[in-house]
Amino acid sequence: MNYILFSFVTFVLMMSVIILGFIQVINYLKTIDPEYNGDKAEVLEKGEFEKLDIRLIEDLNGWIEIVDENNQVIFTKGNVIEKKERYTEEEVKALTFNARSQYSIDTSTFKGKDNKEYVYIVKTPKDDEDSDEDDEKLEENIVDLGKGIGRYILVFIILFVINVLFFSFLMMRKIKKPLEKIKTGMKEISEGNEEIYLEYKGEKEFADICSSFNSMVKKLNEAEEEKKKLEESKQKMLADISHDLKTPITTIQGYSEAISQGVITSPQEVNKYLNVIYQKSNNITELIDLLFQYVKMNHPDFKLNKENNDISEFMREIIAEYYEEIEDKGFLIEFEIPEESMYCIFDKTQLKRAVSNLISNAIKYNDQGTTMRIELSESEHGHRIYVGDNGIGIPDELKEAIFNPFVRGDEARSSTGGTGLGLSITKQIIDKHNGTIYLVDDKCKGFKTVFKIWIPK
Ligand code: ADP
Repeated sequence: MNYILFSFVTFVLMMSVIILGFIQVINYLKTIDPEYNGDKAEVLEKGEFEKLDIRLIEDLNGWIEIVDENNQVIFTKGNVIEKKERYTEEEVKALTFNARSQYSIDTSTFKGKDNKEYVYIVKTPKDDEDSDEDDEKLEENIVDLGKGIGRYILVFIILFVINVLFFSFLMMRKIKKPLEKIKTGMKEISEGNEEIYLEYKGEKEFADICSSFNSMVKKLNEAEEEKKKLEESKQKMLADISHDLKTPITTIQGYSEAISQGVITSPQEVNKYLNVIYQKSNNITELIDLLFQYVKMNHPDFKLNKENNDISEFMREIIAEYYEEIEDKGFLIEFEIPEESMYCIFDKTQLKRAVSNLISNAIKYNDQGTTMRIELSESEHGHRIYVGDNGIGIPDELKEAIFNPFVRGDEARSSTGGTGLGLSITKQIIDKHNGTIYLVDDKCKGFKTVFKIWIPK
């Protein structure tokens, strides 16, 4: 609005200056051409000779005559020095070439309203001094014209500057208040005030800035919160790792000390202790391997090795690999994998690790007689993989955080020695494929634990 108003006022100013300048030039033209008279032709044609404006001719001590077609002078006006009633034909012809005459004579013809031809004669006394005066007058007029136009330009500049200052002041008033608010907000946030909220109702642009500022503050707070959580989870992870490493290492230390100091002597006992040591060192290796895998995946430089693969064939290969183990454990297996090839871009090694984690968990945590179901289907933009079982199910208290590292059930903690890293690695892999994985809340087709994976095509 301000810009439009400003432009409009400037335009009006400019137009006024141009129009006034134009008028000045016309006036000037009138002064340099004593015969100039915008209405002369019209006045003559109408025969309203009295209305003729001959002030400039009079200034030069001249007069005008109007002669009809019979060379009869029908009208005179001005300082008539030599009155003439009529002209002879020769006199009329000689009028303009009359170098010897003491007058400067100017003639022009026009048609009157009776459609007859008339002659308009301007006579001014010839006088050298006068012509010098004329020149001086002309010069004066030019100077006056220059001064006049200069004055208009000066007035224009002054008005333009006032216009600029006025609109700057208006803008300042409008801008200052919200800017102050934003400045204070910035200052407060830099001083650590997270509660700051800018309330502003007014100019749309500033209202937008304030609302962007507010959402920025909100995002900053969320990021801060996220950072805090991440820090806490890192601390928790470190504590979990130390704990998980400490337990088997303490066992290894205690058992090996007992053997080396000869506390245990019977070969059977020694063998039993050595077996435990071996098992615990295996647990440590597994934990370190998984940890390495987890950390590697979290690194920003980690890249999947994606290729266009047949996902049906891929799933069949995994099932074939686990088939014997599943059967040995006394599980029933149902699977539904389409026979035709279905192509999709994924990292074969990593996706195999992800799906294998789900299958091996089902084998590890469930008892004989459990039915396991593996399914693959195609959706509009991707593929779905279901891995489910009707076994013991995941405890409710673990469900929400099941994909976080080191989250594991009591079963895993005590007997199987699970690390709690398997599902978090699986989730990382699916995330890297821009896919989704979740644990189905309710029983799905009678299966207690069902993981659903979706991978985009
Ligand atoms: P880990 O198996 O090393 O403990 P995971 O992250 O793979 O770690 O699994 C986390 C926990 O989820 C396990 O400790 C277990 O209690 C539970 N869990 C995972 N899959 C199943 C399943 N199919 N049936 C029952 N419990 C499961």
